[in-house]
Amino acid sequence: MLSSPKSSLGNYAVVARGVKKAFGHHQVLNGVDLTVDYGKVCCILGPSGSGKSTFLRCMNHLEKLNGGLLQVGGELVGYRQHAGKLYEMKKSEVARQRADIGMVFQSFNLFPHMTVLQNIIEAPIHVRMINKAQAIERAMDLLSKVGLSDKANAYPRTLSGGQQQRVAIARALAMKPKLMLFDEPTSALDPELVGEVLQVMRQLAAEGMTMIVVTHELGFAREVCDKVVFMDGGVVVEEGSPQELFNNTKTVRAKAFLGKVL
Ligand code: ADP
Ligand code: MG
Repeated sequence: MLSSPKSSLGNYAVVARGVKKAFGHHQVLNGVDLTVDYGKVCCILGPSGSGKSTFLRCMNHLEKLNGGLLQVGGELVGYRQHAGKLYEMKKSEVARQRADIGMVFQSFNLFPHMTVLQNIIEAPIHVRMINKAQAIERAMDLLSKVGLSDKANAYPRTLSGGQQQRVAIARALAMKPKLMLFDEPTSALDPELVGEVLQVMRQLAAEGMTMIVVTHELGFAREVCDKVVFMDGGVVVEEGSPQELFNNTKTVRAKAFLGKVL
């Protein structure tokens, strides 16, 4: 699924080294270090305000770093390296990088005035320049994959939250991303709709998609994730396999957090 070019930061799908981000005087990310292997799923847990969403947004260049480096698929995010120096990328290059990263938010963010099908084909046609017939064919395949073939012509407002989120996942996949970022994708859903979204994500993981998932669904983290990361105060406090993080928690802060949510 992913090519894996060599680079100085190592051969990983995602590398964060000392990633810092401040909003004014508020230092939100204080040096995040993380690696994710190609084809693996990394779950990020942590209390509200610990910087999880900001970190995902940095990965997609929706926020600009104040320090450190981020690399996705062997390429620095937002910078080009030339003769040992870093240069900021042009807007068009940033857009090209962003197109390779799919992002799914808690709040679905579908275009309300477009049908499900129109939502899915919009970016492939206008960003990837794929012809409409091909875009529709791929969209229908994706709708079938997420179990919504019969909703192609429906408008988002007529769908349940779980259905809307599955459309949002199909829309992200339509761009053939190298990496999928999920920011609490089931947090806004009624409990009985959570399972259908997690099932789609489980299937994606099984197909070898590289994924970073911010979630409070510990069952999913345990079962699907290769690596679980606990963030607090803008840093990675602890990381390990699900087994290590849940059954052999090392740090006081992770223990306290898991004690509250388990
Ligand atoms: P989490 O996703 O872990 O709950 P966030 O990354 O959303 O945490 O937020 C971390 C901190 O950064 C919070 O204190 C939040 O208020 C602050 N923050 C996030 N985005 C902005 C912004 N655009 N401007 C100012 N502060 C922000
Ligand atoms: Mg968040």
